[in-house]
Amino acid sequence: MAALLLGATADLPAHYKADKPPKNEARLIRFPDVQGHQTLVVDLHTHSVFSDGHVWPKIRVEEALRDGLDALAITEHLEWQPHRADLPHPDRNRAYQQAVAALPDGSDLILIPGSEITREAPADHMNAVFITDANALLRESPNAPKIEAKTPEEEQLLAAVPQQLIDEGVLDYYGATNQWPANEAVREANNQGAFVFWAHPYYTRAHRSAVARMTDFHQTLIETGQLHGIEIANGAFYSEEAHALALQHGLTLLGVSDVHNLIDWDYPPRFGAHRPVTLVFAKERSAAGIRAALFAKRTVVWFKNLLIGREAELKPLLKAVLDVKDAAYRVKDATYQNDLDVLDLTLTNNSDADIQLRNLSPYSFQHHGDDLTVPQHGKLKLSVRTLERLPQVELTFEVGNALLAPKQRLRIAHRLTLAD
Ligand SMILES: [Zn+2]
Ligand SMILES: [Zn+2]
Repeated sequence: MAALLLGATADLPAHYKADKPPKNEARLIRFPDVQGHQTLVVDLHTHSVFSDGHVWPKIRVEEALRDGLDALAITEHLEWQPHRADLPHPDRNRAYQQAVAALPDGSDLILIPGSEITREAPADHMNAVFITDANALLRESPNAPKIEAKTPEEEQLLAAVPQQLIDEGVLDYYGATNQWPANEAVREANNQGAFVFWAHPYYTRAHRSAVARMTDFHQTLIETGQLHGIEIANGAFYSEEAHALALQHGLTLLGVSDVHNLIDWDYPPRFGAHRPVTLVFAKERSAAGIRAALFAKRTVVWFKNLLIGREAELKPLLKAVLDVKDAAYRVKDATYQNDLDVLDLTLTNNSDADIQLRNLSPYSFQHHGDDLTVPQHGKLKLSVRTLERLPQVELTFEVGNALLAPKQRLRIAHRLTLAD
């Protein structure tokens, strides 16, 4: 048997033998730095077995390394502890500590301590990152009443809770720990210097429209400077309404995976999928640099093929992403055998996003209509009919997958100065 196993092992790819992730360049999430800032790829909302996730923190760290993240936060539900019968961990900092312990030697992945404060409506879920002690964000009320359904909807929800979780006291524990007012937990997080954000604001048991709406609870937190960001993309969801709320209330835009299973299952890299992330434009590549950038709202959300941000961040990013090379008038044309007033140029894309452009210039293209796609880390050759030889040409595009606001796309211009 041993010989058979040994024989089989000999044929396995090298990475099966070593305890380190296989190299997969295509999988790395890559965006260029912008002027004055480093572009850091960050996922601030994930789970492990220390709440309702299904993997050990070490796996989260390894996924982050495979995806080429700069920073990761494992943000366990403090109160919702479905594994508590098997993993009763009185110290809520353990997931973070386990992640730190799992960092391979020499790794520069930045681990950010965080927790998910978990309540029912109106507070719902809020994540606090850059905390110093997760335990201080949790308080158990010993004489809390048992959870009871007060409405038919709640009755339905309660009926859906697996009997095993009821038997193991998971529901009672949740009932006892969500009595402590959410605003007090948020205040404690702020006392620790946390950056606090509203998680999946469209997900609430209070209404069924799946539409994010401002509540008095969150409004008060924003007005008192205690709620700083909002998820506009979480997992498979983008919320236009959350996006609008972010702009209306001056909140930092965030995209997160909120992964519970494996990244590879939810976002299979072999199909080119990627987890939603936040691109953070930091003055330095450090936890402090990320924290400062988050408070300064210097983010762009990367969700599926969408880039979502404010103009101050999105415009410099697109400038770094999209470049015009080799712009020159055609001297000899193979087809027509004479000079043409056609400007040839190459658009290059230095990012993971397929950049979708709509031509807003008065010029037409020889080989394309007005809608163009510059593929990720690729090029597009364009032949522009300028009608005459111009010393300067301005090409203006609307970027179909760069959103400034719901239904509002970024416009960019490239001014080209041409030699004779
Ligand atoms: Zn949540
Ligand atoms: Zn979560």
